[in-house]
Amino acid sequence: MSTSADRVVVVGAGVSGLAVARELAPDYDVVVLDKGGVAADTSSRASGMISLSLEPFPDGWATFALDQFRELDGRGIFSFAERETVRLVPKEDAEKYTDEAPTGGEFLTRDELLSQFPDSFGDLSAYGGGLVYDGTGYLDALDYAMTLKWQAEKAGAGIFRDHEVTGLCVDDGTVTGVDTEYGPIDADHVVYATGWKTRELLAEYVELPVRPLRWNAVVVEPESPLPDDCPLGSEPTMRVYWRPTRRGDVLIGGNEHLLSDPEETPMGVQSSFRETVLEDVAPLLNGVAGGTIRREDCCPTADCASPDGLPIIDAPDEAPDGLVVVTGLHGRGVMLSPVTGRAVRSLVTGEETPFPTSGFELARFEDRSADFEYRSHWD
Ligand SMILES: Cc1cc2nc3c(=O)[nH]c(=O)nc-3n(C[C@H](O)[C@H](O)[C@H](O)COP(=O)(O)OP(=O)(O)OC[C@H]3O[C@@H](n4cnc5c(N)ncnc54)[C@H](O)[C@@H]3O)c2cc1C
Repeated sequence: MSTSADRVVVVGAGVSGLAVARELAPDYDVVVLDKGGVAADTSSRASGMISLSLEPFPDGWATFALDQFRELDGRGIFSFAERETVRLVPKEDAEKYTDEAPTGGEFLTRDELLSQFPDSFGDLSAYGGGLVYDGTGYLDALDYAMTLKWQAEKAGAGIFRDHEVTGLCVDDGTVTGVDTEYGPIDADHVVYATGWKTRELLAEYVELPVRPLRWNAVVVEPESPLPDDCPLGSEPTMRVYWRPTRRGDVLIGGNEHLLSDPEETPMGVQSSFRETVLEDVAPLLNGVAGGTIRREDCCPTADCASPDGLPIIDAPDEAPDGLVVVTGLHGRGVMLSPVTGRAVRSLVTGEETPFPTSGFELARFEDRSADFEYRSHWD
């Protein structure tokens, strides 16, 4: 474990960096540095879908993350709304699920869906039914980030905004700290949780196969509020997802795609996405056709894709000792953040994690170039 001299500098105060700080602050001198504000980049724009149980991931990830969201529920300004998720199944695909649904899901016919959620759906005539999952829910990503910050600070972490890290300090193959615009800061461990920027920031030390990734999301106010039990959902042909909000609106997201240069790309929600939402998605939900767009979210810079859709959370062999990287969260940075925090804790302390972490290792990629095809969650 740590000595009184052990300091961890975390670069990046998005949900990943904050989750790391919360995990390590009770035992280490933790300093978080962000060039902007806390969760001011991609993290505050996240839709707050918590749906790890829909994915074929090791069971331990969803369970660990859910336990943490449940434990935090009601603390500070954070609340976690547990709701089922319905993955709509087009008529032509329904037959394949009537005998056997994918692990974790239960297939309901359209009539069964309408009877289980009588006030939530609108026109489902194109669908044979839906796969219903539990162990899912939603949160407000900014409230969550602020609650992680509060907990990390309560445990002694120092979190500093407007502190750009300009370089890593390395002596004889071991990290000794970071350089910032205000001067160097010593550290025994340095964790880079800087999203897609991590590739260029650490290029001198390790090659990371990650690319910027854009998502679109809008909040629509229905003619009347959605019911309290409205499930989260997704539609596979349009590749969109939705979730209710606490005030009865609906957040609809999707249309993710890779970007070459986020800084040169207009980051507003794309008009084609806005049209899809209003014309094709809104009628699926009760009272949302004819609703009004109240808010639009797109990353101010970008989220970060990896070639296989899983993050890189590792202390790579070829990197200097004491360096940990967290990048490539691929649209799941919020829902995975408890897992991220604990995985980094394990890399720093050597403790075991209660879930498998081999899927996070950089060594799984032979090709480290950023020239890879996008692997969507939908495929
Ligand atoms: C519209 C949208 C919807 C999404 N919906 C969901 C969802 O429903 N569920 C989900 O789990 N995920 C979702 N995501 C993805 C999620 O937002 C990201 O995966 C997550 O926020 C990544 O967090 P991060 O902390 O790794 O990176 P970021 O939030 O990008 O944080 C990186 C931080 O590093 C800082 N930084 C960069 N360079 C430096 C430097 N040199 N010095 C100091 N600081 C630096 C930046 O300022 C930034 O604050 C969504 C994303 C978007 C855009």
